[in-house]
Parts: sequence; structure tokens; C-alpha cells
Amino acid sequence: MSQYDEAVPTSFLLDEEDRRLLLSWSDEHESIHGWEALRWACPCAWCAGEGGLPGMLSKKQSLSVEETTLVNLEVVGRYGLTPVWEDGHKTGIYTFEKLRASCECDECRKKRATR
Ligand SMILES: [Zn+2]
Ligand SMILES: [Zn+2]
Repeated sequence: MSQYDEAVPTSFLLDEEDRRLLLSWSDEHESIHGWEALRWACPCAWCAGEGGLPGMLSKKQSLSVEETTLVNLEVVGRYGLTPVWEDGHKTGIYTFEKLRASCECDECRKKRATR
């Protein structure tokens, strides 16, 4: 069990200038997620691999602008979000817990560093 089990995202904002996603949470936290880091973390079978086979991301050195431009977010049930990327990719389900654990704000970074 993590301390984030109860927090759920309530709204999101696409910060096109800084190419990052801002998520507002039910516990009033605002999390920050750089688009590129988010895209590299795509957990879908095609990107991350499946059944011991390497995924597409493990063979790439870099990603294109289309692949790392976030255009929308879709809610998946009550547990996750699927980013919709400009290249049309939208099969990765990022759980709320995982998103929250990868928040890049100063507060969360510090918390992780001292753990
Ligand atoms: Zn993917
Ligand atoms: Zn944070």
C-alpha cells in the first residue's frame, strides 16, 4: 500500500510551452510530468515489451516530436489515464499510482531522494 492510494487526478492541463503535463489531484497536489519522460515510460506491450520480448522503446535512441507531443488524456476506469500522442499512439495505461510516483515537482523529488 502506498500513501497515494486515495488520491485521484481531478483535472489536467497541457503545458505546450514547457512540453509537460500538469495534473491536479483530489488531495490538492499538482503533479508535473515532462512529455518526453512520460512517453519513454509508456507501459504498453508495444513500447515496453511483453513476455520477455523487448519493446520498441528499448531499440530506440530518440523519439520524434510527434511521438513526444501529448494532445489529450483519456480516463481508463477508475485507476488510470491513457495519454494520446500526436503520432496516434494511445495504448499505454498509466495508473494513478504510477503517475503520482513519477511526479517531477520539487516536493516529490525531495521526498524520493530522502527515502
Ligand atoms: Zn506504448
Ligand atoms: Zn509532486
